[in-house]
Amino acid sequence: MNYQVNENGFYGEFGGAYIPEMLHHNIEELKNCYLEIMQKESFKQEFSSLLQDYVGRPSPLYHAKRLSEKIGAKVYLKREDLNHTGAHKINNTIGQILLAKHLGKTRVIAETGAGQHGVATATVCALAGIDCVIYMGEIDTQRQAPNVERMKLLGAEVKPATSGSKTLKDATNEAIQDWVRNAEDTFYIIGSVVGPHPYPDLVARLQSVISEEIKKQLTEKEKTPNPDYIVACVGGGSNATGAFYHYLNTPEVKLIAAEASGKGVNSGKTAATSVIGTPGIIHGSKTMVMQTEDGQIIEPYSVSAGLDYPGVGPLYAHLHKEKRVEFITITDDEAITAGIELCKLEGIIPAVESAHALAVLDKLATKASDIIVVNLSGRGDKDLNTYTNYFN
Ligand SMILES: *Cc1c(COP(=O)(O)O)cnc(C)c1O
Repeated sequence: MNYQVNENGFYGEFGGAYIPEMLHHNIEELKNCYLEIMQKESFKQEFSSLLQDYVGRPSPLYHAKRLSEKIGAKVYLKREDLNHTGAHKINNTIGQILLAKHLGKTRVIAETGAGQHGVATATVCALAGIDCVIYMGEIDTQRQAPNVERMKLLGAEVKPATSGSKTLKDATNEAIQDWVRNAEDTFYIIGSVVGPHPYPDLVARLQSVISEEIKKQLTEKEKTPNPDYIVACVGGGSNATGAFYHYLNTPEVKLIAAEASGKGVNSGKTAATSVIGTPGIIHGSKTMVMQTEDGQIIEPYSVSAGLDYPGVGPLYAHLHKEKRVEFITITDDEAITAGIELCKLEGIIPAVESAHALAVLDKLATKASDIIVVNLSGRGDKDLNTYTNYFN
């Protein structure tokens, strides 16, 4: 089975580039050169040296002994939470800012919902000395005020999107309009394995460093590159893609995606796209989408701002259909419980997103000899209020 994107930008029936005519030129430019640039020695060297000295890679693969004892299997945590800026998102934005520089772009735009991708983008723009404009729904700028402050401190301009529902999809629309007006000098940094081709493939390649490291680290610790399971949470799918990438064609490694079901799959307050989604188009690609019968997007919900996305990257729609990845839904209650448990057992406060992956451990039929890698996508400093107030 082939899980790579084909030359038309599709994974099986999903993917492609469903974009307005006016964006055709921008997307073509990127499509025609991203692989060539990424294969240049100069790009590879700069990328890997920044990952090492700026981000702090390789991130440790930590054997969580007390958690393992409780689960009854050997659990390793891939510590993306220890990266600069506190999550995996920086791996991608570092790569895209280098691409922007190679293309001679002098300005960057991005959209952000919870603000995590906005912060990661503002960070690399400061690093590269490139102008940065972040579009964010006006309502989100109020809900996520600390991240707005961070972006501003890093030198970015934050533009509140005031149209429509004043949330992520409106920010996306306004960012796209900006890109159409400023195609010459502006690079659009997308934050997950979503959007029109070639973005899903580009982001997948940049995040694949995670599984490259897991292979090496596990070989050192266990004399085999292959665990029995790899578990990751899925919003758009970028941290999961990073953790799964070099294992997609190794069927003996079971790949598990933790999806946020919010208050429950049938509660009307959910983000479980794999269960209630149907094929449709969102953010420029064909994938599984939470939508009504007449194609209106259903507003997603999860306690975790990073997972309440009404679609999933096209690669995930494909991996789900081909059954290469098993999707397990996790409720808010289950995630918060698993997150608090990790604090007490290991002294690590995980992001609420990552807590969804941890909650899967209780649901696997494991045996004592099993090796499980959980991708700990981010740290939970941003989620203190959520943890503290949840059960009170
Ligand atoms: C953004 C985010 C996610 C969800 O995004 P993916 O593209 O699915 O990885 C998960 N965990 C953390 C910590 C995040 O910041």
